[in-house]
Amino acid sequence: MNKKKVFIYSNITEKSRLIEQDLRNKLVKSGLRVYEEFDPQETELILCVGGDGTLLRLMQDLNFPETPVVGINTGHLGFFQEVLPDKIDDMIYQYNQGHYTLQPFSTVTGIVKTDAGEFTHTGLNEIAVKGAPTFPVHLNVSINDSFIERFSGDGICVSTPAGSTAYNYSLGGSIVDPRLNVLQMAPIAPINSTAYRSFTSSILLPESDTLTIQPCLEYDDDVLSVVYDGGLTEYKNVREIKISLSQKKVNMVRFKGQHFWDKCKSKFL
Ligand code: NAP
Repeated sequence: MNKKKVFIYSNITEKSRLIEQDLRNKLVKSGLRVYEEFDPQETELILCVGGDGTLLRLMQDLNFPETPVVGINTGHLGFFQEVLPDKIDDMIYQYNQGHYTLQPFSTVTGIVKTDAGEFTHTGLNEIAVKGAPTFPVHLNVSINDSFIERFSGDGICVSTPAGSTAYNYSLGGSIVDPRLNVLQMAPIAPINSTAYRSFTSSILLPESDTLTIQPCLEYDDDVLSVVYDGGLTEYKNVREIKISLSQKKVNMVRFKGQHFWDKCKSKFL
């Protein structure tokens, strides 16, 4: 019989390293093969040891694999990370019995067009566009090439349903039930005065829509920061940034039917 190949991705805290070792021993004992390298064709399961931040880094490092991921939570919040370290034995048993479902999550893509070329970033939570730390940024925002608003403030955060409970939530955006596949644009500290005016609440767009963000050249043509799940790249001479939900989906393993809103209640209230 062909043994299933699994890959462990861990952060470097002492706690995670200890749990990773314990996990490795238990996986091997249960008949699974632990590989040192991730192979998108061969690896059947990824185990991610850490917090949500570790899962976000895994996605960036492994280029948003479709391979199912189990999150073992050694972090602080653990919104994505479902399994607690003391439930590892049960998790391995349930996995080997096939007692699980896969929860797909949409990702968001930003295509940055500059005078120097085109660059693509992907996020599981969000892509945010910001200006210089000390000045407001002025951005023209269009939906499907139809101009909507001139934004002035700290920036714009465009989140997936999975990211709705992260930065978006701190910005006053709505928590989105993962059964709704929508893109959410939340303003970051928008200025609202007789001089500058834009939407003060977040807006929700259907999955087929694309947002186009262009710097207002009459104000400045300075550096724009593109932030994707905490990663940052600064660009000069940006012509436009197109942001939409991506075709790429990632799959989290879910062992029992914990209701999404029960999780929101336990993590936030
Ligand atoms: P971090 O500063 O270590 O983490 C920020 C917090 O966000 C952590 O508690 C993390 O959970 C939690 N988190 C991440 N994704 C989440 C999600 N989908 N739902 C609920 N909570 C979530 O940085 P990080 O761990 O690398 O995370 C990067 C994320 O931080 C970005 O994607 C952005 O969403 C968020 N962020 C938030 C703010 C804000 O709220 N003002 C500002 C900047 C960035 P764990 O404790 O389990 O890691």
